[in-house]
Amino acid sequence: MGFGHPKLFSSPVTQTEVLGSLYDSVQSFRSPSVVHSVINGQPSQIMKEYLKSKLPSRIAGILQRVLNSTRMLWIERQIIYCPLCEKKVDGLWCFSHPNLSLKCPDCQSISRHRLIALWARSEPNHLNSKRAAIHFAAEQCLIEFFKKNYAFNYVTADLNKNSDLMINIENSALPSESFDFLVANHVLEHVDDNKALKEIWRILRPNGIALITVPLVTTWNETYENDQIKTPKGREIHFGQFDHKRFYGLNIRDRFFDAGFKCREFFCSGLQCVENGLERGEILFILNK
Ligand SMILES: [Zn+2]
Repeated sequence: MGFGHPKLFSSPVTQTEVLGSLYDSVQSFRSPSVVHSVINGQPSQIMKEYLKSKLPSRIAGILQRVLNSTRMLWIERQIIYCPLCEKKVDGLWCFSHPNLSLKCPDCQSISRHRLIALWARSEPNHLNSKRAAIHFAAEQCLIEFFKKNYAFNYVTADLNKNSDLMINIENSALPSESFDFLVANHVLEHVDDNKALKEIWRILRPNGIALITVPLVTTWNETYENDQIKTPKGREIHFGQFDHKRFYGLNIRDRFFDAGFKCREFFCSGLQCVENGLERGEILFILNK
């Protein structure tokens, strides 16, 4: 197979022709290895330089964004084992903060959900002994997983009325020591985490456990917060999403300890990440009261 498209190198060309030729070229790709070499190799560079010289920078920028957004169509499909569905599925590439992620086409789980299911299946005694569970900002795939596999009384909680309890994790007004299992996936970065962790401690029973995941940069010791950032756009730039308040570093552990918890961490090996479609380095924090 040749690289590029003859039309691209004839002159003069219109922008419509260039875009049409690119589309034809993309459509003709069949092998991911060929795609890889076209994207990263010399022909790609020639095409890039040619387009740069012919297209206004604004149009070239838009084209670059379109090509980036279709990147997932070119990536080789991956068979993964979904521990929620308990079967092998054809993982679908999707954008999930902060990186590309694999979604299960059956239960719609992404990496963090499968990490929890893997932990739950690896330590079944922990959840089998629990009686009352509360799940903040509950994801449908995990709701179904918990209800199907465990006998505990289970409620969902959120600020909106689509959950069983319409409450704020910073100040829930729930009775103290009313749950022995709590889940909060990617919740702490949205709220005053000092208040939320104190509240989690208060509503958990002695020996209760809380499962926590957050956007975490494992090369940072310090969590990045910035009082000067007050707008949705600013938060998107600094913290990765319009309503996030921080990017956590490894000192998140100190916040758990300060609230009174003992903390364990669950994560998977390189091979497990491939087999289960997990984000490399993702950590599930297991807090014990
Ligand atoms: Zn699944």
